[in-house]
Amino acid sequence: VFNFSPGPATLPEPVLRQAAAEMLDWNGSGMSVMEMSHRGKEFMGIHAEAEDLLAELMGIPSGYQILFMQGGAIGENAIVPMNLIGATGRADYVLTGDWSKKSAKEAKTYGTVNVAATGEASKFTAIPKQSEWKLDPGASYVHICSNETIGGVQFHWTPDTGKVPLVADMSSDILSRPLDVSKYGLIYAGAQKNIGPSGLTIVVVRKDLLGHALPVTPSAFNYQIQGEADSMYNTPPTYAIYIAGLVLKHVKALGGMPAMAEHNARKAKILYDFLDGSSFFRSPISKEDRSLMNVTFWLKDDKLDDPFVKGALQHGISGIKGHRSVGGMRASIYNAMSVEGVHALVKYMQDFERQHG
Ligand code: PLP
Repeated sequence: VFNFSPGPATLPEPVLRQAAAEMLDWNGSGMSVMEMSHRGKEFMGIHAEAEDLLAELMGIPSGYQILFMQGGAIGENAIVPMNLIGATGRADYVLTGDWSKKSAKEAKTYGTVNVAATGEASKFTAIPKQSEWKLDPGASYVHICSNETIGGVQFHWTPDTGKVPLVADMSSDILSRPLDVSKYGLIYAGAQKNIGPSGLTIVVVRKDLLGHALPVTPSAFNYQIQGEADSMYNTPPTYAIYIAGLVLKHVKALGGMPAMAEHNARKAKILYDFLDGSSFFRSPISKEDRSLMNVTFWLKDDKLDDPFVKGALQHGISGIKGHRSVGGMRASIYNAMSVEGVHALVKYMQDFERQHG
């Protein structure tokens, strides 16, 4: 099956095979990774290797803390302001779709939220130009969502927020392309798209931003406390970290971020070129803001949505239905989706159009 699900999503098959082979006996330890103490030397090694690989692949400079946490990106919607907003009590949020709207809403509990820009007028089919943003120079940070998984817009540029740290929810495009981490104050991501199974949340934070946690911040969600404990203040999601390590190793062997960027751009081009040439299917997203990870599209007649999804399943294509809040279809084509999978989807779409167009 070609799994186009938005997440949890398809993972590289060699990784899953290795995990299956090691399930009962990891590296001669006689234990499954699931059964290991997080403080034992075997797991500590797995944890350290995953962290090193992430730092290497993302090019994380010194001065940044990597945290392996729990709570998902929705948890981070609260954890980020709890840790950072206290510097000034105010934060800027740029709204580009469902996920960034959710982030802004959650942050309001912890301080004053200024909506610096919103794509609402375009129904979130385009990202507001930076010239239209009304940034607060006294904000503790500016929050963006680099890729809106539901709507299908993606930042293809890095906002300039001056001295105010840029915070990004990168849940659905982390590790999909090279990134200049030094332009960000904090990056967070749920792992379940490009990195591994759900349950693991990645946080990369500039250390000088720490020390402003609000008194309500639970210790397990306090970046400084977790950093000092090397993400082991509480029991980390050990098995998810192990799988993430295998995925990171696999991505490195494939050529790292430049190779991922090329692979992802190639797949997205196949799909968008097809959509642009079709009079039956169309992409609602403005060309310069189209996501290379989540390709949203509409059929000419939404009465055909259900037959399209059912037929797709019969052709080994799953997870194609759009999010209920926007409708239509969505093909999520993360790192682990093959070019072959995208060709299979386009072939199915061509056949469907011939039959129903
Ligand atoms: N932010 C983005 C961009 C997402 O795609 C998702 C979806 O998984 C979330 C946040 C929510 O993540 P979680 O359910 O892991 O909290």
